[in-house]
Amino acid sequence: MKALVYSPAAAATAFLDLIEYETPQDTEYSCLIKVLGCGVCGSDLLKLERALVKPNTVLGHEMVGEVFEINEALSRKYNLKKGDRIVSSHHVPCGKCNYCLNDKESLCSQFKSTNFNPGAFCEYLELSEDHLKHTVIKLNEETSNLSASFTEPVACCIKAIKKSGLFAHKGSTTVLILGLGSIGLIIGRLINYYRKHKDLLHSSVSELYTQQNYYQEGINLYGCDPIETKLKLAAESGFDKVFNDIALINNAEKPDYIFLSAGANICIDLAISYIRDGGTIVVFSSVPDSAKAFTNNDIYYKELSIISSYSPNLSDLKESYQLISENKIRVSDLISHTANLSNLGEIIVKARKDNGIKVYLDLGDRAVIRPPQP
Ligand SMILES: [Zn+2]
Ligand SMILES: [Zn+2]
Repeated sequence: MKALVYSPAAAATAFLDLIEYETPQDTEYSCLIKVLGCGVCGSDLLKLERALVKPNTVLGHEMVGEVFEINEALSRKYNLKKGDRIVSSHHVPCGKCNYCLNDKESLCSQFKSTNFNPGAFCEYLELSEDHLKHTVIKLNEETSNLSASFTEPVACCIKAIKKSGLFAHKGSTTVLILGLGSIGLIIGRLINYYRKHKDLLHSSVSELYTQQNYYQEGINLYGCDPIETKLKLAAESGFDKVFNDIALINNAEKPDYIFLSAGANICIDLAISYIRDGGTIVVFSSVPDSAKAFTNNDIYYKELSIISSYSPNLSDLKESYQLISENKIRVSDLISHTANLSNLGEIIVKARKDNGIKVYLDLGDRAVIRPPQP
């Protein structure tokens, strides 16, 4: 099969090289998935740029696919057959360790060691029975491949919002999203949705509403990014105010919650200096130079909470798919560039030049890489 692999020499194509790769096989305890599409995550780009993976690694985890080979036993057990469209996250938590028992599934050692074989920037991948048991979600007919590919990133954002405690805040409050790429925009759209809907069935965000009989109408939702097109998209996404410079936020508008979705070294310092006393900063992106330190006393005297959120829990994935498949959160317009296996590297480079939002690898149509039929 064709696969895009990490190649340190391929700087002109975002360090991606298209090669012939051994096609994985299904086994007694796994099935074979034909990849239909995959979102390109900021973390994939970081791994490529900073050489965080070995040469010839196949990346890609925001995968949507189709069951291609599955044995009868697994088919019966998990109610899946050839041709069913699915999404699955790449890591599977064990469900038993201390981290899993305390809603920190992304820290579980099994979570970190499990993955697709080999990844999703390719034509086929092998999914283990653990994936079938815990992470696979069968798609309904109405949900497009592209929208379904957002299940994992939207789930990451749902977890971050839950961890922030924003919806347990009493009285009115202000939240600032620093960095309005796809993740920042998704967080904003989710907050905008949750602040208007108290009737969610399965979410712990909604449990917070009912436990406290408290409908959080008083959330001011602000966003900040230097790029005009992103500010425009944020304004259309339900943000109440957008700023191209954090210094434009006046004292009365200071946020109680800041989500860091920007990935620049300076952001944590900016957040600490602009947040209201007692505020919460949610670290939600990696930065190039993590040696930077903030001051002990800024945190201590302002009584700040600095928390982080990394990867989703299984319950967040289910909630995410529910929101996407019921069209409660809009995602498809966040794809600014679409690519195929032959040109993904070039399109990633172009998307960066264009200040694009997100790139989608579309394998729904294989004509581009298959020789024409006689
Ligand atoms: Zn991701
Ligand atoms: Zn575990």
